Amino acid sequence: MAAAADDVPPSPEAIRGRVLMFPLPFQGHLSPMLQLAGALRARAGLVVTVFHAAFDAPDPASRPPEYRFVAVGEGVPSADLLPSGSDGDFVGAVLRINDRLREPFRDRLRQALAESEEDDGGGGGARCLVVDSNLRGMQLVAEELGLPTLVLRTGAAACLVAYLAFPALCDKGLLPPPSHDKSLLDMPLDELPPLRLRDMVFSTTTSHANMTRCLDDLVAGTRSSSGVVFNTFKELEGPDLRKIAGAIGVPVYPIGPLHKISTETSLLAQDRTCLEWLDRQEAASVLYVSFGTLVSIDEAELVETAWGLAGSQVPFLWVVRHDLVRSSSSSSPRHASLLPAGFAEATQGRGMVVPWAPQHEVLGHRAVGGFWTHSGWNSTLESVCEGVPMICRPRFADQMVNMRYVQEVWRVGFELEGGLERGKIEMAVRKLLCGEEGREMRQRAKDLRDKADKCIKDEGSSNSAIEMLLKRILSF
Ligand code: UDP
Repeated sequence: MAAAADDVPPSPEAIRGRVLMFPLPFQGHLSPMLQLAGALRARAGLVVTVFHAAFDAPDPASRPPEYRFVAVGEGVPSADLLPSGSDGDFVGAVLRINDRLREPFRDRLRQALAESEEDDGGGGGARCLVVDSNLRGMQLVAEELGLPTLVLRTGAAACLVAYLAFPALCDKGLLPPPSHDKSLLDMPLDELPPLRLRDMVFSTTTSHANMTRCLDDLVAGTRSSSGVVFNTFKELEGPDLRKIAGAIGVPVYPIGPLHKISTETSLLAQDRTCLEWLDRQEAASVLYVSFGTLVSIDEAELVETAWGLAGSQVPFLWVVRHDLVRSSSSSSPRHASLLPAGFAEATQGRGMVVPWAPQHEVLGHRAVGGFWTHSGWNSTLESVCEGVPMICRPRFADQMVNMRYVQEVWRVGFELEGGLERGKIEMAVRKLLCGEEGREMRQRAKDLRDKADKCIKDEGSSNSAIEMLLKRILSF
């Protein structure tokens, strides 16, 4: 099937049915789902209905006109549905979203199925529901109504391999860890190289019972689906993808990097002046610093980070989101005005701070030579795809697993461990941007970038996986 630009609408006669989608309402999950929507539309004339939590509506104005957006759960209490903090309870939020939106979704889905019978008749109506792997509750509703489901995993294959091993580690008495002894937590897991026991403690704010329930649901969801779509590629994670295919017994479709096969973009306003600033910097000289959409730091960490960046003498572009900094004196987030006095003067001309950046373009800019990241999967994959090596500072969820693969398997970055101190930050930044080790990591990252470029070309592995996925969807 020929690929088409996804900003060209399919003609009405080219529409071959509707795919229903339910992303998890967090940016790091919503973006890959919308990127998948863009690819389905461009390659197979499949149009989408996107169900979304009422409290987190994507902006329909910036999306193709034949997309439908359906809010689910108006009036449902939502204050505790978004995790926040340095170690946010992502799992608790996921369980609450499933519990609260499942019933309202049943009505919405029935209605959408009836509508799509009426108006997409020629194209075959609603073919399936693509559901985020964390939304087992919504998948169960689709199963009840007889609609086939596909699961989208927005994380690494490595992370699902770790999740699959979770019950066995519990049976062995290793999870939850019986003590917080450093030597125990540092213990390598023979069944999951290069992970250590500490990498499996996904969050210190999540109860073991909730973690177990969440992972049981997630794995059950993959097994009862008609296939699992991964935002990764075979050349990056081939062995783990094979393990998963053997363990879950349904087809796996590694079609990533999704941001490279679709023009769907960020949902938030981006500060594009930073691209002009980057144009004025030397090649591979700038450190890009961003901790994603959910991680927060405290005031002391902000100050150490600021002076560490200043002291490194390396040019930097730093994303300080409006809610990045937790105040020690109140639970409400504080703004970047907390940057220490004298910091702007000390870094004038050499540093830039923005509230939100066009990250794909920043990482692809020739001036960027390194990325200090929280190791979210989207950020990790985007960095790999642009050949940019990383300083990793994982906090929770799958971020530790991603960091271990970056450091130990692909060897394109290293962890910044322990407390944030300006001296340690300076050394890490100089190691990545100015040292021989950093140069070698950059070279390995560029090799991975070349593989990522190839996999989406005509004969590439991700391109073939998309073809298989489209066949599957059109067979429903
Ligand atoms: N992002 C962005 N601009 C920024 C910071 C982040 O566009 O200034 C995007 C980034 O490109 C990535 C997403 O936000 O696609 C963050 O996802 P990730 O999985 O890395 O982390 P999460 O926010 O889910 O923890």
